Parts: sequence; C-alpha cells; structure tokens
Amino acid sequence: MKIQTLTLYPAQEVFTKITKEVLNLFKVAVVGGKEAADYAQLSVVYRWQHTEGGRVQVRVRLYAFRCDGMRKEYETQGDGADDEREMAAVHRLAKLGLYQIFRRHFGMPQAPWGILHGVRPTKIVHRWIAGGLTEQAIIRRLQQDYACSREKAELIVPMAFRQLPFLQTSSEKTVSIYVGIPFCLTRCLYCSFPANLLPGEEELREFMAVFRKDLAAAQDAVRRYGFTVQNIYVGGGTPTSLPDKSFAEMLQLVYNAFYGPACGEFTVEAGRPDSMSAAKIETMRALGVTRVSVNPQSMQEKTLVRIGRRHTPAQVVEMFRALRAAGIPHINMDLILGLPGETATDVEDTMRQVVALAPDDITLHALALKRGSRLKLMMEEQHVELPDDAETRRMSETALRYVRAAGMQPYYLYRQGYMSGDLENIGCCRPGAEGMYNIQIMEEHQTILGIGGAATTKVVDFRRHRMKSAFNAKDLTTYLRDIDHYIEKRALLLEEAYGE
Ligand code: SF4
Repeated sequence: MKIQTLTLYPAQEVFTKITKEVLNLFKVAVVGGKEAADYAQLSVVYRWQHTEGGRVQVRVRLYAFRCDGMRKEYETQGDGADDEREMAAVHRLAKLGLYQIFRRHFGMPQAPWGILHGVRPTKIVHRWIAGGLTEQAIIRRLQQDYACSREKAELIVPMAFRQLPFLQTSSEKTVSIYVGIPFCLTRCLYCSFPANLLPGEEELREFMAVFRKDLAAAQDAVRRYGFTVQNIYVGGGTPTSLPDKSFAEMLQLVYNAFYGPACGEFTVEAGRPDSMSAAKIETMRALGVTRVSVNPQSMQEKTLVRIGRRHTPAQVVEMFRALRAAGIPHINMDLILGLPGETATDVEDTMRQVVALAPDDITLHALALKRGSRLKLMMEEQHVELPDDAETRRMSETALRYVRAAGMQPYYLYRQGYMSGDLENIGCCRPGAEGMYNIQIMEEHQTILGIGGAATTKVVDFRRHRMKSAFNAKDLTTYLRDIDHYIEKRALLLEEAYGE
C-alpha cells in the first residue's frame, strides 16, 4: 500500500517511531506527492486519559483520504493492564490500536509477532513469569496485549520456562567473557560487519599486542570484583581465520586468564571450513573447548558460491567429523533461511544433510537484510531478489519440523531488524546441550565482559536494576588506536555497578 502524506498527533518522536513500526510491518510506503498512491493522506491521532478505575485508556483514530477525495474514519480504544507502567501502556496501546485498524479495515495479514518488536521477545515473558502468571495465562496475554500469533506465543512461552533453571545458575558476581576476533577470510554477501579481512603479519602482531592489553585489563577486573567466570565465548568474525600459531596463542591467553573450575562452557565459533586446520582442532581439544560452532549457512553448493563462501558442503561434513573425532563435546551448526535463490525444497535438503550429522545444537537464522551488506547493494543495483515472505516462512516451518523430529527443542530466540518473513533466530538443541552463554546473553541476566575487536561489554547493575553497554570499535584501525579508551569505558561501567 502506498500513501502520499502521513500526519500524526501528537508529533512526538515516540509516536513517529510507533507509527513507522506499524507501517513497516504492513509494508505501507509513504511516497510523497509526486507518485501515484492508494491514499493521498493518512492522519493518525493518539489520545489517552484515565478511567475511573485509574487505568490508562488509549484511543487511536485514523483519517484516510483517498486520492478521489473520499474520506473515511476509523477508531479503536484499549485499556492498560494493572501491572503496566503508565507510559508503557500508552505506547503499547497506541501501537496495538493502529495495528488493529490496519488489520480490520485495510485487510492486512496478521504479523506473526504482532506488535512485539524488540530483539528479545522472551523478556516480557520472564517478567510475567516473575509476576506469577502461568504458561497458559502468558500465552493468552501475548495474543491479547501484543496481537502475537498463537504459534509464536506457544514457541516462546514454554521456551522461557525451560530457561529458568539455567538463569538461576547465575548470581550477581557470575560473569561471561566474550572474545571478539574481528577477521574473516572472505566477506559473505549478506554481512554488514566491516571488512576486516585477515591482515598481514605486522598488523596481526599489533592486534595481538593490543588484544593482550585488553585481556589483561579484563582479567584485573575479574580479580578486583571477585567475579566467577561461568562461560567463555570466542566469536568474531571468524576466530579460526587466524593462522594456526596466532590462534593457539590467542586461545592459550584466554584460557590462562579466565578458565577455572566454575567455567562450564568454552565456545569457539569455528564458522567456516576454509578457516579450519588439524592444528586448530588440536589446540581446542587440548585447552578443553566444550562447544564449537560450525556454520555452513546452507548445504547447497550453488548458494555457497552465491553468498561468497569459499567452501563446499563436503568440506563442512569433513570439518564436522574431524571435530567429533577430536572429542569436542558439543557441536553447533548455524543455518540461514531466506538466502538468495533458495526455496523451501533447498532448505529441506540442507536440513536432511545437517540432521544426518547429528549436531548437538542447530541455530536457525532468518536472513536479515542489513544496510552496509553487499547483498543490500546488489538488490538495489542489480535487482537481485530474495525468496518472498511466504516462501521464507515455509523454510522456517520445514527446518523446525526437522529439528523437532531429531529430538531438539528451541531454547533461545532473538530478533533483529529487517528479518526475512518477519521471522526470528532460534537456537534448538538436544536436551542437555543448551548453550548457557546464549541463554545468559539473550536474557540480559548476567554481566558480559567483552574483549577484542567489535566486542560488546554488558554490565548488569543489580543495585539500580539496569544494564549499560560499552562497545569496542568494529574496525581494526580504531580498535588498535583507541584501546585505552575502550578499556577505560569498560572499567567505568564495572566500577559504577560493582564498586564500593
Ligand atoms: S563469516 Fe560471518 S563475520 Fe565473516 S564475513 Fe561471513 S558473515 Fe561476516
């Protein structure tokens, strides 16, 4: 649907954001006065007041002016819930009201997640669990308050209950360590990560020197505040794109600094088979790595070529078997649904091949079309098309059917902007193989110390009930140049939350 002009009242930033989110959900474009459109103007008015019972009540009115001069008017009204803060209720009801008008009067299809827009839809579920609501009551509220589909509500609510024992293993002084190795061998078509291709020897030496400094400062913080390290996650980029010697040096440094008796999970994202070697597998085995991610994304050769990955499906299988033979306890495989040129039949074939390997954990990502990716540019300039939403949803249904048939359950989930099919990323595993780090970071219950390029530190301030983040630069030059600044920012956040 196209409209020429959109007006809003009140014209506050938050209502502009809410309105745009609903328009994006239904792919309604504001095209300006010069282009043909379905409507000359839509005007949205949000008003709220308090009922006698003290609840907040929100009315949404939409005036639609057609290009032939016809005018129509639609209205919805909704009341806030008892356990909702006033302005949170106003924003939710404003969005829900506009969503309902588009659904009822403009024939728009249901959005799978309704108006539940954030990265972590399980957060609201955990809040309701803490408030004493049952599984069925939460499923109902997701549908009523957020227009979430029953299917998605039934996906995340049992998942949140399953997460509880894992979240309870963490106390205020339990932390995880994230290590960012910001290099890759080639750049994938869909990636928006800055292109830090593996640098030459000299720059790599410089990186390792700065990395040591970063790591030593984080190690000091662990000692100073008496933290217990529960999980170590080495990600990137592709950490295994480092040459064998640098990889061993990096992993040994991480091990020496943070590995201890309480460390239950030590993950390395090995990513791509073209970055793997027997020496790296031996390093991981010798240092007690418990979890390795092998990320084929697809097992279709034509797709791997298309998305710029220089490896074959056969090399994925070879790498997987070598890791198993080395005795790595948990192997995860990442796949992407909605890749260019793929159909649900391709995904079915990929799932058949992946499930046959019996990984412990499979993460199903929906393609997120990010600004800054070559894919986004190609779509604009060369009109490369992606599978449509219906096809991508079929891919997701197929993939979930396979993981469930293999005895796996969804155990964590997150969403991003611009996801194909308005879908989500879901981690599924066999019982007992849950990635603790994935659960802790997604639910933001635990402080994460980020070290290395593009690493994020998340500090949970239990005294003030809030979380603050600090980001290391994504591009290598800035990270190397400004390391002291990043160390200081991390130290300040930690002192604020944990200092005397
Ligand atoms: S391996 Fe990951 S980080 Fe590296 S280019 Fe591909 S998508 Fe980007």
